[in-house]
Amino acid sequence: MTLPDMHSAEPIPPTARVEIDRLLQSGDLFRYTAPSDAPVALLEAEFAELMGSRFALAVSSCSAALFLSLKALDLPRDARVLIPGFTFAAVPSAVIHADCRPVLCEVGENYRIDIDDFAAKLPGVHAVIVSHMRGHTSDMDAIIALCEAADVPMIEDAAHSLGTTWNGAKIGTMGRVGCFSFQSYKMINAGEGGIMITNDADLVARAIIMSGAYEHNWKKHPVLQNAFATHQNRLPLYNLRLSNLSAAVIRPQIPHLAQRVIDGRRNHDHVADLLANSPFISVPDPLPGEVRAPDSIQFNLVGMNDDEVHRFVAAAGAAGVKVQVFGLSDDNARAFWNWQFIPDLPELPRTRAMLMRACDVRLPVHLPVDMLDAVADVILDAVADATTPTRAFGT
Ligand SMILES: *Cc1c(COP(=O)(O)O)cnc(C)c1O
Repeated sequence: MTLPDMHSAEPIPPTARVEIDRLLQSGDLFRYTAPSDAPVALLEAEFAELMGSRFALAVSSCSAALFLSLKALDLPRDARVLIPGFTFAAVPSAVIHADCRPVLCEVGENYRIDIDDFAAKLPGVHAVIVSHMRGHTSDMDAIIALCEAADVPMIEDAAHSLGTTWNGAKIGTMGRVGCFSFQSYKMINAGEGGIMITNDADLVARAIIMSGAYEHNWKKHPVLQNAFATHQNRLPLYNLRLSNLSAAVIRPQIPHLAQRVIDGRRNHDHVADLLANSPFISVPDPLPGEVRAPDSIQFNLVGMNDDEVHRFVAAAGAAGVKVQVFGLSDDNARAFWNWQFIPDLPELPRTRAMLMRACDVRLPVHLPVDMLDAVADVILDAVADATTPTRAFGT
């Protein structure tokens, strides 16, 4: 069977074209030109309603949303921000960009924050970013309790978790701010884009101004207007706005989200069940309370040495499935030892051990089930190849 393109992003619904054509004809691409109902403003209203949060601010990326969240918390320079040691390089980068210092905590072999290490590193920290890496949800009850007890604000990096729930609560709504991405390989694909949600009127007012609502453009945001007056001309303008064109690509995908989540979970669980047949593969279970919304699968290779892991990756790749082992691929942006822009980069032995065996395979939510079987077959055959010395010898 010919394998599908595992890297194709989610298609844009054809209904987007009418609005895109209208924007191209009018040239009205800037969010603050129209007196009201600009596509970006409508997106913010729709997204806030979808998530059940009071405010939403659409920006140019999730990284921009994380940066603005930290700035809007008004942290002192060099404030320490606790982040997981397994995340995308954009997260520690946002911390550095905000003139803060990343503090890294260990992540276990189930890709979730090691709560003991989190608790140990929390004292002296000014803010926390919980990065739900690849949509994996850490023990949010424990994290929220620890942050509340320490009176430390928590930001959720839900870039890759749109649609995930924790004990019924939507991921991204449990922190002071929740940040999401519309980059192509997320649940909603606009190429680039991000959005932050919060119930905190003053925080969002600061973020809106800093995102580039210069002069009185903030009046076009449905937020308590007195919050803005306080901050007028007192905050820098970073200009991280979203274009109307991006909003026109995003909005028609929102009604498809629920189905994408169902399909993504079906795809993940189907492949996970098949991979569980191999003694060399372990797919970590979600924590009780977590209902996932995956568009990829992560699994650990067990009982294989580095050579065998490299042979596995090569065999799967030759058969059409690109497997990334986070810690073994060159210069991987999710391997903490490559974040050399962090001063005093620590060692995290547990996280390192996990990264050396954790595999990442994209499973676009639009893949049909027969293709999933083919993907799982390639992975299982590649494991068999890599762990059978006589067969591997000739390859
Ligand atoms: C994609 C991603 C980001 C960055 O999102 P951008 O919109 O590309 O800035 C941050 N964190 C996680 C966990 C991600 O998956």
